Amino acid sequence: MSPHLPILREVFGYDAFRGPQQAIIDHVAAGGDALVLMPTGGGKSLCYQIPAIARQRAGHGITVVVSPLIALMHDQVGALHEAGVSAAFLNSTLTSEEASDIERRLLRGEITLLYAAPERVTNGRFLAQMDSLLERGLLSLFAIDEAHCVSQWGHDFRPEYRGLSVLHERYPSVPRVALTATADALTRADIVERLQLEGAELFISSFDRPNIRYTIVEKKDASTQLLRFIEREHPEEAGVVYCQSRKRVEEVAAMLCEAGIHALPYHAGLDAGMRQRHQNEFLREEGVVMVATVAFGMGIDKPDVRFVAHLDMPKNIEGYYQETGRAGRDGLASDAWMAYGLQDVVNQRRMIDESPAEEEFKQVMRGKLDALLGLAEATDCRRVRLLGYFGEAYAKPSDGEQGVYMPYCGNCDNCLNPPDVWDGTDAARKLLSTVYRCHQSSGHNFGASHTMDIVRGKKTEKVVQRGHESISTFGLGADYSEQQLRAVMRQLIAIGALHVHTEDGFSTLHLTEGSRAVLKGEVPVQLRESTSQRADKRSRTRSAPGPAAANLGPDAMVRYINLKAWRAEVAKEHNLPAYVIFHDATLAAIAESAPQSLSDLQGISGLGVKKLEAYGEQVLRVCNGAA
Ligand code: ADP
Ligand code: ZN
Repeated sequence: MSPHLPILREVFGYDAFRGPQQAIIDHVAAGGDALVLMPTGGGKSLCYQIPAIARQRAGHGITVVVSPLIALMHDQVGALHEAGVSAAFLNSTLTSEEASDIERRLLRGEITLLYAAPERVTNGRFLAQMDSLLERGLLSLFAIDEAHCVSQWGHDFRPEYRGLSVLHERYPSVPRVALTATADALTRADIVERLQLEGAELFISSFDRPNIRYTIVEKKDASTQLLRFIEREHPEEAGVVYCQSRKRVEEVAAMLCEAGIHALPYHAGLDAGMRQRHQNEFLREEGVVMVATVAFGMGIDKPDVRFVAHLDMPKNIEGYYQETGRAGRDGLASDAWMAYGLQDVVNQRRMIDESPAEEEFKQVMRGKLDALLGLAEATDCRRVRLLGYFGEAYAKPSDGEQGVYMPYCGNCDNCLNPPDVWDGTDAARKLLSTVYRCHQSSGHNFGASHTMDIVRGKKTEKVVQRGHESISTFGLGADYSEQQLRAVMRQLIAIGALHVHTEDGFSTLHLTEGSRAVLKGEVPVQLRESTSQRADKRSRTRSAPGPAAANLGPDAMVRYINLKAWRAEVAKEHNLPAYVIFHDATLAAIAESAPQSLSDLQGISGLGVKKLEAYGEQVLRVCNGAA
């Protein structure tokens, strides 16, 4: 048994370690350096919190946690207090008295975990205090959270993180653990180099998030599709909706509010005060939908985000995975849902084409975008593709024969509802030859709509004006719907057989090296049947109180609802989000157990010693209808 299991049980109230937690904790608590790569929701916090507690108990003193997220430190520290751990933060939101008080406690070695931003950690005053702790043997461990911020290749580069090499240089004897959810090899190598972690043990977890269901739908009327998705799958549940632009964020938030959904906008154009208010509301109230740009999300550890929706396509799979990973940290069923269309492809290409970056960098970006397009157009398992992108082979034991592994997950749209595939080769050839002939006849390139009009034989003003009725492919694809041709076009772009070029705001289509093979019929173009033509076979009955309570009987449900109301009051009193007091799953387990005495509460997951002591009696009263 790990010597740290008792801390997991006593302080956090959890039964068992998850994945590689135990190995990491044993290694770090013993004074080893570590680099931890774990997906969002994997349980990184315990990987430094438990070593911090163990080392403090063994007389090694304090752990300094470096985190870029000042706005979240209050809640992180509050959660540790609730669990009975002595923790504090130092940042610019404190008054000078509060800060001096913490510094006094720090120097007396009374604090187990101290959270601070990198600019604080690397300033002279703080380092002098660390020196004094070190002299007395009270500087135990450095934990560097969101370690990818040190790298330009990560998507949240913070120059202040570069200064953190001082920790190793000044305190070579103090162990360090760096943690991140960013997986790609380039960023990883950069973290090791910048933070001088060459000697650290590397711990990489599986990046699979089995409780997240991936769905990518064809974009028609995105707002209506989103609204239906929320109403059908996640009424009154918390979620995040990502949009590309600030304007779009505002529009979508307003649309959802109008439909009676508690939605809030979040983007870098709002002032800091409003951003903080909206973030707090999202964290503290139930069932809030945050409509945001990518500016929102890092470090948000709200466990019961039930869905992440993308109304616009992200730039690459890394971004998509990071953002969708914010759903379902509590391990309960959650959705990653994206609506994607031809316009997204055109827009993303344009952003790359028009960016001032070097051509070499643009090539990398185009490659990454193509991988995401491939995912969106896929007719096979999304999870297999996602994990494959991160270099992980996914295989799930089949239900039938032992030892037989299947390349599908059973929890993505394509696995649950295998799309009908149609052969789009003929349509693809007609589109490509139209692009070719238009160019031949006039020396110009045209956009997607005009090209489709010609193929479908529509005599629009522009078609007539340009004399494109006389092109030999005119009307040859009259049997195809516009939707079908759009799908073919997306697929052609995704496989690189068609290139979208943007200049002065106009997008035009161009043939590529890859077009020839499709024109010759050497490369078949397989397409998913448009979903609107098929009944939605999937069904998930959603109970209003969410997945944690899905299996409760009527009496237990009453207890659960009362417990939630009680929890809301406690959270408000403590100025903390409700999940910091208890997770939904813990409340559901309590409700189910119909506890009569404190001993009935013992061993419930998420109920540690301190919480049992602080809240046990109240919980019993609430469950027995006396509160
Ligand atoms: P990360 O920082 O990796 O995104 P967190 O540390 O926030 O993940 O953990 C995600 C959730 O999982 C938290 O709500 C946490 O309480 C829970 N958790 C972590 N480890 C365990 C465990 N061993 N057993 C049960 N729950 C756990
Ligand atoms: Zn799948």
